Amino acid sequence: MPAIDWTGGSGRPGVEHGWLSFPDPVFEGWRWPVIRIRGDAPGPHLCITAGVHINEVSSIRAAQSLPAAIDASGLRGTISILPIVNQPAAYTFAKAVVPIDGKNLHFSFPGAADGSFTERLAHALIHEWFADADMVIDLHGGDFGEEMARYVVCQRNGSARFDDRALDLAQAFGADLVVALKPDQMAARGRCCTALAPMGIPALVSEAGDNGAADDDAVAWHVAGVVNVARRMGMLPGSAHPRPASPVIDTYLWITAPKQGLLETRFAAGDRVRQGQLLARLRDPFGAVLADVLAPVDGYAMFRISLMFVAEGDLVTAIGVPEDPRPQSTTSQQPTTEEV
Ligand SMILES: [Zn+2]
Repeated sequence: MPAIDWTGGSGRPGVEHGWLSFPDPVFEGWRWPVIRIRGDAPGPHLCITAGVHINEVSSIRAAQSLPAAIDASGLRGTISILPIVNQPAAYTFAKAVVPIDGKNLHFSFPGAADGSFTERLAHALIHEWFADADMVIDLHGGDFGEEMARYVVCQRNGSARFDDRALDLAQAFGADLVVALKPDQMAARGRCCTALAPMGIPALVSEAGDNGAADDDAVAWHVAGVVNVARRMGMLPGSAHPRPASPVIDTYLWITAPKQGLLETRFAAGDRVRQGQLLARLRDPFGAVLADVLAPVDGYAMFRISLMFVAEGDLVTAIGVPEDPRPQSTTSQQPTTEEV
């Protein structure tokens, strides 16, 4: 099991700092900063992670801000925080991936005990770090060239009791949109919430932030969401319902560029879009139109790619389709780049 070398407190009561290490020899020389907020009373264990995508800095700052935002004397239970999960990408340049093997941890869960570095890290997080968690929240949002709608993702496992709990905690976060992935997603590798659902551990991925830049408003959004979920779990005093229920999305369509070109988008992240709406235009270097990208369905633009130069197959956005009793002919598929 993982070991923590506690190096001290932050000067705030109930808050400790240390370094986490995993026993797998592939992690020799690697350790992860860990922050623990321990309440005065026993209660649930809430695990927070950030920095799976190293440039999504608003989410990293939010994870680091939690000890200042949460009064440990009013806390029931423990909040464990790994603010910089992708340690190999820190102090270097990497977009979306763990540079040791070039894989995207975010879509590698549940990983593999005998796999590459990223696969083993995913496996260690799921089976060692999160094993005794009552709830997990993985903070994300807005790598270079990405502008995010403010949403959370949870995974259903098909058990009515679990699914109700997962959706209730997702709604408690206070996001603009809630993506509730269908149980069939669990057959494929995916986000941490997808790997934790079969174990009966509810989890959320929260998304807010833009273009690899720190943004105080996005930081505050992530922090408020974590506090809301902790309230809903009975860990903190106060109400967890800051707003009406968010629209629930159960189908997530990745929209990619049909050819290489200069991308000119015509929407903002979070926009409600209609089937057939012009989302983007691809031009050649002289301005001639190469192709139009139209919305294939009604839904919400979950993010906007803000880069000018895109290759064929690169992401433009994803359309989140609200729950609908009518059968869908399309299913969510992941793009080859799997960046967001
Ligand atoms: Zn991310």
